[in-house]
Amino acid sequence: MATPALLIANVCRAYIQGENVVRVLAGADLEIMPGEMVALVAPSGAGKSTLLHIAGLLEHADQGEVFIGDTATAGLDDGARTRLRRSEIGFVYQFHHLLPEFSALENVVLPQRIAGLPVAEAEARARDILGFLGLGHRIEHRPGELSGGEQQRVAIARAVANTPRLLLADEPTGNLDPTTGEHVFATLSALVKQSGLAALVATHNLELAARMDRRITLREGRVVALP
Ligand code: ADP
Ligand code: MG
Repeated sequence: MATPALLIANVCRAYIQGENVVRVLAGADLEIMPGEMVALVAPSGAGKSTLLHIAGLLEHADQGEVFIGDTATAGLDDGARTRLRRSEIGFVYQFHHLLPEFSALENVVLPQRIAGLPVAEAEARARDILGFLGLGHRIEHRPGELSGGEQQRVAIARAVANTPRLLLADEPTGNLDPTTGEHVFATLSALVKQSGLAALVATHNLELAARMDRRITLREGRVVALP
């Protein structure tokens, strides 16, 4: 049987807000297989970003376990979590967070250089991905010279630069107009299918959610399947 790219088991996370304890995740379970694209649809404040941050090893669960592939992460120290995150996980946010003084190509090269890839290899891969995402003619441009949709496609290219097994996207089209959002989603979805990547995509867009492999929501801190 294939190993899930992401397996979340009985994850709990609470925040203290003044005098209140907010139980955001309370026994959340989730499994995503390679090549699967899952929509996370839930109202604001339901815990989507918390779930993504815990899945992406950016935040610790109070309880429970997160497997990235075969690796159990709850007992890992920060260094091991960071290395695992860099090699196995890519993030896309609502805002692109590209480095403004670097070109599109350099933005995609950088994480590969940090991972230790030689510059020629990193550039070749960056050209490939940017080309696949329809940005072959834009690689020398800085983020400020790109449209919103182009910026977000560069952010996607950067997220998958180190061939992660898991892509986590937090409302990646939330800041785009519908047509651009549609285009960015189409490229993202082609990339997932082509690469065998597993993707968890938080979105408010029900039309896009309907086109993913399955849909989940958060109810009382647990992951629940949607039709
Ligand atoms: P969503 O992404 O679905 O809008 P979040 O995961 O950002 O939801 O937040 C879920 C709940 O947890 C909210 O009530 C939010 O205020 C609270 N929360 C999130 N992060 C923190 C934090 N660092 N400290 C305190 N409360 C937090
Ligand atoms: Mg959020």
